[in-house]
Amino acid sequence: MIIRLAFLLLLSTGSIIQVLASDIAITPFIREVPIKENGEPLIDLRDQTIIAYDESMLLKNPDCTQVRETIYKKICEAQELLPYGLRFQLLVGLRSLRVQEQLFAKQYAKLKEQMPSMDEKELFLETSKFVAPVKTWENQINVPPHSTGAAIDIILINLEGIPVDMGVDLDYPFQNEKAMRTNSDSISVDARKNRDIMAKALSAADFVNYSGEFWHWSYGDRRWAYMKHAEYAIYGPMIK
Ligand SMILES: [Zn+2]
Repeated sequence: MIIRLAFLLLLSTGSIIQVLASDIAITPFIREVPIKENGEPLIDLRDQTIIAYDESMLLKNPDCTQVRETIYKKICEAQELLPYGLRFQLLVGLRSLRVQEQLFAKQYAKLKEQMPSMDEKELFLETSKFVAPVKTWENQINVPPHSTGAAIDIILINLEGIPVDMGVDLDYPFQNEKAMRTNSDSISVDARKNRDIMAKALSAADFVNYSGEFWHWSYGDRRWAYMKHAEYAIYGPMIK
């Protein structure tokens, strides 16, 4: 299966490494997973006190404290598994397509400035490594994971509410593409330890991770279904 996959990638792009590195929402393998929406409601973290959230994120994204009910329960379940002294802090749950488009455009412009020799398609694909597009390069509808309420960007904080060392500057997480990868070997021992603690707890609660971003986890969306070999995803777009 792996060999077949690699061969298909080689055929379609001419570069295996390029496609594996850009393993994000636009990959056709994930986009083709069927969705059977289960209609579960959203929970707003502002209505509870168990899981912390970053208030400053609300300025850019007024929906970011919302997640599906099961996702909330699973974060609580995973938090129980953390060693004493550590808690989760949700950075982003739900994100509207409008905010998603703004983020994509911002990242696109930034990369264009950094890599002026890239053509439009290359820039589009490069941007997609960081931010899921609302439509693919071929103009097909894409479901950004954060539009489902099933994806979370999450970190660990201490009992004072201060983020622990996760290996990147959280104000500029995209700054270091190497360090932001979950299994990066260019982070400190402490950061490695914290990422492993977080991964262990979230994996035990059945979340899956996007390997390009240590902070991005999901349950029940297309990526989850693909990685867990489930027949279909149970959460589709929840917001426009
Ligand atoms: Zn994310």
